[in-house]
Amino acid sequence: MKAVAVFPEARQVRVIECEPPTLVQPDQVMVRMLDVGICGTDREICSFEYGVPPPGSRHLVLGHEALGEVVETGAAVGHLSAGDLVVPSVRRPCGDEHCLACRTGHQDFCYTGRFTERGIKEAHGYMTEYVVDEGRFMTPVPGHLRSVAVLTEPLTIAEKAMAQLSWLLQRRPPWVDADVDPAELGRGLSALVLGVGPVGILGAMALVAAGFETFVYSRELPPSDRTDLVGAIGATYVSSETSTFDELAAGIGNIDVVYEAAGQSHFALQALHVLGTNGIYVMTGVPGLQDLVASDPARLMRSMVLKNQVLLGTVNAGPEAFAAALRDLDTFSRNWPEVTAKLIAGRHPPEEAAELVHERPRGIKTVISFDRTG
Ligand code: BGC
Repeated sequence: MKAVAVFPEARQVRVIECEPPTLVQPDQVMVRMLDVGICGTDREICSFEYGVPPPGSRHLVLGHEALGEVVETGAAVGHLSAGDLVVPSVRRPCGDEHCLACRTGHQDFCYTGRFTERGIKEAHGYMTEYVVDEGRFMTPVPGHLRSVAVLTEPLTIAEKAMAQLSWLLQRRPPWVDADVDPAELGRGLSALVLGVGPVGILGAMALVAAGFETFVYSRELPPSDRTDLVGAIGATYVSSETSTFDELAAGIGNIDVVYEAAGQSHFALQALHVLGTNGIYVMTGVPGLQDLVASDPARLMRSMVLKNQVLLGTVNAGPEAFAAALRDLDTFSRNWPEVTAKLIAGRHPPEEAAELVHERPRGIKTVISFDRTG
């Protein structure tokens, strides 16, 4: 079968032929891959700046944003059957008995750092025809979400952030009633999204759906496909080419939430200066190592203390976020059917992956398709 593989030592990305996997444990399932998304992390892996092949292998099969169809199940798998659509999660537990996070199925919070990530760190990914893994790592997908379900994994980044935000917004301020309706969470609050890539746009959609007055700030000059999408979901787009952070903040008022999805450390730091009183700053980007820039830690520290601010980093996602992402994809396709349909920029054969990984998609997400039937 075909797979798109990265060879870091030889600095190559190419399609290879490999042996199809087989079920070796009763708790496993075999999944035929349908769609696999390309993201910024894949771009870094294909620039040989990130990613590690499995031990003993010279190559890493790419791909961690995937949708597939179950074709075979082991005897111990009760909740899935052949024909079910599934989205696999990315991270696998470290196996250390002292790691409470991994031991309880929350490897996205792994303490030891010895987790593996399919398509990223020491485990092959999903940009191939068939994959075998434990059934517990698969989230079932309702059939009507077939065309957009490849967006589930990038949306889980926003969902994990939303879960943390939701907890902070409902438990931290003593005057707030806990357990508000999720659609009302952001009522009366403003959110600033940094970045107009997939994680930024999907995050903006989740924030708008949760009732936040949402602003998206990035370099791109409007009009473009992406800035149009921002307008179409009822958020406001502002370009950093025409407004400074201070001008942006003056137009928003108290910025209650910053959701960083740009992965640019300098840009991210500047936004910390405009975070409002009692504000929560969520970082999701994993920047490449960049040149040092001058910063003003005293001003930052002052502002964080004097304004009761929270700075939160979040990576990867657990099963609750996968379920929430599928619920939100359903909401998005009902609230904004045209926008949702435009999120997938195009579907391409695996032979084009090596080139596409370095291109900026016209829409939001470029997908490699292994589905010869549809
Ligand atoms: C993936 C996460 C992963 C992170 C760090 C992101 O692109 O979506 O699942 O944990 O990279 O490797």
